Amino acid sequence: MTTRSETRTALDHLLTEIEHRNPAQPEFHQAAHEVLETLAPVLAARPEYAEPGLVERLVEPERQVIFRVPWQDDQGRVHVNRGFRVEFNSALGPYKGGLRFHSSVNLGVIKFLGFEQIFKNALTGLGIGGGKGGSDFDPHGRSDAEVMRFCQSFMTELYRHIGEHTDVPAGDIGVGGREIGYLFGQYRRITNRWEAGVLTGKGAGWGGSLIRPEATGYGNVLFAAAMMRERGEDLEGQTAVVSGSGNVAIYTIEKLAALGANAVTCSDSSGYVVDEKGIDLDLLKQIKEVERGRVDTYAERRGASARFVPGGSVWDVPADLALPSATQNELDENAAATLIRNGVKAVSEGANMPTTPEAVHLLQGAGVAFGPGKAANAGGVAVSALEMAQNHARTSWTAVRVEEELTHIMNDIHTTCHETAERYDAPGDYVTGANIAGFERVADAMLAQGVI
Ligand code: NDP
Repeated sequence: MTTRSETRTALDHLLTEIEHRNPAQPEFHQAAHEVLETLAPVLAARPEYAEPGLVERLVEPERQVIFRVPWQDDQGRVHVNRGFRVEFNSALGPYKGGLRFHSSVNLGVIKFLGFEQIFKNALTGLGIGGGKGGSDFDPHGRSDAEVMRFCQSFMTELYRHIGEHTDVPAGDIGVGGREIGYLFGQYRRITNRWEAGVLTGKGAGWGGSLIRPEATGYGNVLFAAAMMRERGEDLEGQTAVVSGSGNVAIYTIEKLAALGANAVTCSDSSGYVVDEKGIDLDLLKQIKEVERGRVDTYAERRGASARFVPGGSVWDVPADLALPSATQNELDENAAATLIRNGVKAVSEGANMPTTPEAVHLLQGAGVAFGPGKAANAGGVAVSALEMAQNHARTSWTAVRVEEELTHIMNDIHTTCHETAERYDAPGDYVTGANIAGFERVADAMLAQGVI
């Protein structure tokens, strides 16, 4: 019988090896630490998981593709970007995970996102494996025609690695409905196949699911509401700080309002806006989704209730709830201390790994309900899987039906994380609950399928 401390020592060795074998990938190291540090109890309780090198296989992607993406700007100049697709684990289904277009993208970032995706997808209870991809291409300030040429060049290599039964990408930072459209068009042209299930996040008129654009933000608010219910509270009348102003942030703000809470901030990489009356969603959507503008324009047009703070930390604004919805490591220890001082009750991650490990520790120690991204933001990939199901059946469901399914799935994920945490002596610790519950599902499938 292996003890928890022996298991922890073995996991520490493995983490050291991961750092040696994957140099200069700090985000991947961080994600591996975050998961492996919580697995000792389950590995000690179920030694069959330790035997066939299961965790060692889990931390090594099944396949990693890196490719050149040349494209021409509107002046005819040639640019060369780098494309990535990391197909991490397919024990539960085809690889599934978004594409990120952002200047900060590198292999380590894509591996952290792909690794997280394995457990997130497992938590949804749907048949999807984990993967992630993207490019260091920066779409800011590029014309539609430039974005289209980039997407076409990107897909000219990516198409050979994906397919409805193999790997099904979707959007992420810098990849929304416009980019998915251009990517799908090029896939169709190259393959001569109208293969709806190869990409999710498609337009509602050509194979997309209703509620997919809303799903990540709505799902995160539903998860936050479930955490608050555990504390005997609801969202009615609560004030919320939200970071970001993209897909996840916008639909987080929308769902908060629908459940009676008031989001008073949004942000982008130029700074943040605080609006005492609550964010005017129509105005924010007009500026961000239609004009592709910056958040300072929001403050200019909104009038006296709103002000723009260049730089600075959105977490300085007092609130009951915090929903980070921009990017990784955006909420650090100092920000967590400020939130705690200001009386925050719950932090729920819309973004992937937005909270640093030190900040998570501080929040949990202070009794703040903390929802990790792999559970709290799983609504997006869950509705992507529902989009795949609709594509397969050549049908489309009503918005009401999709939202009911989403609500069901988010409540199930909350219950699973909560109960798993209790089962492993960590009541109220959603990080441990999410990691162990996701791990158990993937590990059981890997065990059954042999050493591959
Ligand atoms: P979008 O591109 O729609 O929006 C991203 C927002 O975050 C923008 O406001 C952007 O500002 C801001 N942002 C991005 N990078 C930085 C940075 N380095 N510093 C400051 N601000 C930044 O992306 P999404 O809303 O789709 O994604 C947001 C987060 O949610 C990501 O972590 C993503 O992985 C995660 N997520 C997304 C899902 C989805 O379905 N879309 C599903 C699950 C998780 P600016 O325009 O100035 O760059």
